Amino acid sequence: MIDLHTHTNESDGTCTPLELVDRARAIGLEALGISDHDTFAGYDQAVEPARASGLDLVCGIELSVRLIGRHRSIHMLAYFLRQPPPLDFRDWVNGLIETRRDRNRRLVAKLQSMGVPIELAEVERIGRTLTGRPHFARLLIQKGYAADYDDAFRRYFGESGPAFVERHGPAIDEACARVSQAGGLTVLAHPIRLGILDVAAEDAFIQDLRDGGLRGIEVYHSDHGPADVARYSAIAKKYDLAITGGSDFHGDAKPGVSLGTGRNGNLSIPRSLLDALRA
Ligand code: AMP
Ligand code: FE
Ligand code: FE
Ligand code: ZN
Repeated sequence: MIDLHTHTNESDGTCTPLELVDRARAIGLEALGISDHDTFAGYDQAVEPARASGLDLVCGIELSVRLIGRHRSIHMLAYFLRQPPPLDFRDWVNGLIETRRDRNRRLVAKLQSMGVPIELAEVERIGRTLTGRPHFARLLIQKGYAADYDDAFRRYFGESGPAFVERHGPAIDEACARVSQAGGLTVLAHPIRLGILDVAAEDAFIQDLRDGGLRGIEVYHSDHGPADVARYSAIAKKYDLAITGGSDFHGDAKPGVSLGTGRNGNLSIPRSLLDALRA
């Protein structure tokens, strides 16, 4: 079994990179992909412990990218299957962190205007450079303004929440070009979260992404039921997209999702999937 989509506490997960490697070993994972939001810091720290324990570590990253004509960003995974990403790509990624800070400043202002007493410095103490909404959620829970993560997203800054503010991330074509130049594979993350209910519209949307430079699709994910897996497998075949999969493990920040096995054991991704990606 493998898991190609996980987060450490260098982004919005709660496990350190070392803990994640230990857990992966403990449950017998044959390969672990670390795909933190906007940073390689977790992957970099996991390289040595993974090597020492004989775990096959895959370098990944999850980027929030903008699409023309769509006001919400979508998540794109990039995998560096043969080598870690080069310095110029890392520099570009570091530059993205400013768009996150800008969003965070506007989110703090919005929350304050709703009567939630919160300062940027407080939430940045929790999330450090990669402060994201899950860190805001943790702070709101601590302060008694939300019962749990879900409640915080629903009541405040989830996509349909009253405090939602858009982040001005990179455009998808730029992100695809950068990743490809750096030797990486671009993958549409958790397509179910596009929220496109009409099957034909979803198919057409993914075809457009493929035409724009996307090379893969995350067929296996904790949020995908059997029908979703079947539908996305067929789309992958139809558009000649590489197939990836992972749990999207975030530790305690996503209580229902387990490393490797997903939600209520709905995942068991075979090693052969990674072999096919590398081939
Ligand atoms: P951000 O990167 O700051 O835009 O925050 C987005 C992240 O929040 C996602 O990658 C998820 O990890 C997390 N997230 C989104 N919705 C929820 C939710 N309802 N409950 C908990 N975490 C969530
Ligand atoms: Fe996340
Ligand atoms: Fe995501
Ligand atoms: Zn993720």
